[in-house]
Amino acid sequence: LAVPGVQKLSPYVTGKPIDELARELGIEPARIIKLASNENPLGPNPRVLEAIRGELSELTRYPDGSGFRLKAKLAERFGLKSEQITLGNGSNDIIDLVARCWLAPGRNAVFSAHAFAAYPLCTQAAGAESRVVPAVDYGHDLDGMLEAIDEQTAVVFIANPNNPTGTWLGAQALESFLDRVPERVLVVLDEAYIEFTEGDELPNGLNYLDRYPNLLVSRTLCKAYGLAGLRVGYSASSPQIADVLNRVRQPFNVNSLALVAACAALDDEQYLAEGRRVNRAGMAQLEQGLAELRLKWIPSRGNFLAVDLGRDAAPINAGLLREGVIVRPIAGYGMPTFLRVSIGTEQENARFLEALRVVLDQ
Ligand code: PMP
Repeated sequence: LAVPGVQKLSPYVTGKPIDELARELGIEPARIIKLASNENPLGPNPRVLEAIRGELSELTRYPDGSGFRLKAKLAERFGLKSEQITLGNGSNDIIDLVARCWLAPGRNAVFSAHAFAAYPLCTQAAGAESRVVPAVDYGHDLDGMLEAIDEQTAVVFIANPNNPTGTWLGAQALESFLDRVPERVLVVLDEAYIEFTEGDELPNGLNYLDRYPNLLVSRTLCKAYGLAGLRVGYSASSPQIADVLNRVRQPFNVNSLALVAACAALDDEQYLAEGRRVNRAGMAQLEQGLAELRLKWIPSRGNFLAVDLGRDAAPINAGLLREGVIVRPIAGYGMPTFLRVSIGTEQENARFLEALRVVLDQ
């Protein structure tokens, strides 16, 4: 029998392969658009593809288990020391590592309602308790989270911006929170989407590492850098925290293609800038289209929008699927009237809006 916390978890549901779904719906796979997983709509970066091709001849070798080059590049890029960085198989792996090192039966992790699904998953898998603090206007209630911290709290998870709501914390709110969290509690600041809007009212968590020794910033190359399929993320923290994580980390948790791809991706500022531009334009396009449909949404600083349909979203999701448009229902996040749509290309956004109009008219 699995431990009680695990028994209480609902599985993290991922979408079907597109060709499988197309067969089920009886439509051409090319007619399907996927705006469900907050992926980068630009498609693979040619510089990344070239780096991967160069690495293929080494496939019989194990990857560099310490990720020396990637860590050095990240350290140089962000003004950190290599010893502060931990590499993960996606940033999910970082969250899991934190849970395995800091959480155990008798301990708890504090996080907000409508927070990322991996937090309860990893917390409960470690036998610890999830302390879920009600949200305010779908955003984090930082005062409520501080109140929820007790002697058994070992970790606080905060995502900035948060998925699936897109809500964000400004510098002042974040600093005042970090000032008040007891130093024995590890704060995981999850910045999976930060590159899309950094500076745009969003503080850069890396700037706080010197001031708060109990802070760990987790980031990913799977979103703005476009490497979702390769699974690569990292954290920055004090060298002491990184040392703990590295003791538990599987030695080859980041594969060799992901390592070279990440280095190439970090070297390409232009791809990142283009992603930001497309995201900003797409967000404005979707907001305008949703307003024309008289729908509400939660203002977002991610590459996605949580749209409130004002009624059970499941039938509308089913209707969108019949139109070949995949978005994400978020009833499992306690938001049954919402659908989360990722920002796509201009054409994808237009197709989503048109499909939504058709479904709402039915
Ligand atoms: N944190 C948040 C808030 C996310 O939304 C996601 C991806 N859905 C992740 C972490 C994990 O991303 P990855 O493992 O692909 O780096």
